[in-house]
Amino acid sequence: MAIKSLPIIANEPPPEAPKPMWGVMKRHLTRKVMVGNVPVGGDAPVAVQSMCDTDTRDVATTVAQILEMEAAGCEIVRVAVPDEVAGEAIAKIRPQIHIPLVADIHFDWRLAILSAKKGADKLRINPGNIGGKKKIAEVVQCAKDHGLPIRVGVNQGSIENDLLDKYGGNNPESLVDSAMRNVEILAEHDFHDIILSLKSSNPGEAIHAYRLIAQRCDYPLHLGVTEAGPVKTGSLKSAVAMGTLLAEGIGDTIRVSLTGPKAEEMEACYGILQALGLRRRGPELVSCPSCGRIEIDLMSLVEEVQITLKSVSSPVKVAVMGCVVNGPGEARDADWGIFGGKGVYLLTRHGEIVERYTNREEAKAALTRVLLEGEREQTLAVPVG
Ligand code: SF4
Repeated sequence: MAIKSLPIIANEPPPEAPKPMWGVMKRHLTRKVMVGNVPVGGDAPVAVQSMCDTDTRDVATTVAQILEMEAAGCEIVRVAVPDEVAGEAIAKIRPQIHIPLVADIHFDWRLAILSAKKGADKLRINPGNIGGKKKIAEVVQCAKDHGLPIRVGVNQGSIENDLLDKYGGNNPESLVDSAMRNVEILAEHDFHDIILSLKSSNPGEAIHAYRLIAQRCDYPLHLGVTEAGPVKTGSLKSAVAMGTLLAEGIGDTIRVSLTGPKAEEMEACYGILQALGLRRRGPELVSCPSCGRIEIDLMSLVEEVQITLKSVSSPVKVAVMGCVVNGPGEARDADWGIFGGKGVYLLTRHGEIVERYTNREEAKAALTRVLLEGEREQTLAVPVG
């Protein structure tokens, strides 16, 4: 039985994941649920996921978008299943992609069963919304027969009226009780392959709701801020909510919901995970903010290094600094650094000077060379967590 008051239990990060940075609490121990071949919860790395904005019935366009999302690092993808044609399309989409596919269903229990039969790896449906006990039992049995987990996803718009009355409206307490009500329906059928999400568009409320639910059950938690907004503001809101929760050890999979290109969602997800030292994917560029001591055109140098890094996939950390005042030791966390000053450019490796150059182009060429060599030889590679 997974519904219980859960103490904070320490568990170690998975061996392949980099050690979380100082200040990140040990993770809340959740049960591990498999979504296709991707583990979610337990000691698994925090999984990155997203949702298509294509019409699922348009198989070619949907597959093309999913392949783009895969390339950007998406590990689990969700598609809307509003009708039977969309459910049938899963059978054509699934063989053409390489990551688990989640069928997102509202209300119609028959679409859940159809999606399971057509190859979905997970169902997103709230049992409280699909009608009588017989329908719920059929969906649960179907999920069991196909070995599929179910995500119970409650949000501000799905809270039941009696809970809105009980808690005086839409708030973290009513969200949590709504989620637990749906979980209990599944638990009555002895079904526990559950992932939970409680989405609010307010980061503070989302933080509060996830903290509460983490104390009430040990199901893996899917973190998200709904209707977060366009790329910049949406990423910031998501980073505040998810960053806070992940730093407290709460959260097993994340989705950043943005009004913008899908690749931006993955970039934001990995940015959050990377900032906390929970995952590393691709190169990381750090640069100084510049100040009155600046002696070079830092902005254009950063832009040029960014272009070089587009050809690098290993998780190498590169620092670009605008002067040599504080010394290369300032970038000792970086694998490589370039420090520009009046008439001198320093190339550094883990904070140690490797070479001095008198002009910028030579220094930049040297940095490009070592990055591309490292990429080729994979001598800088760290396993992607
Ligand atoms: Fe200023 Fe130099 Fe620090 Fe950049 S590295 S912020 S230019 S002191």
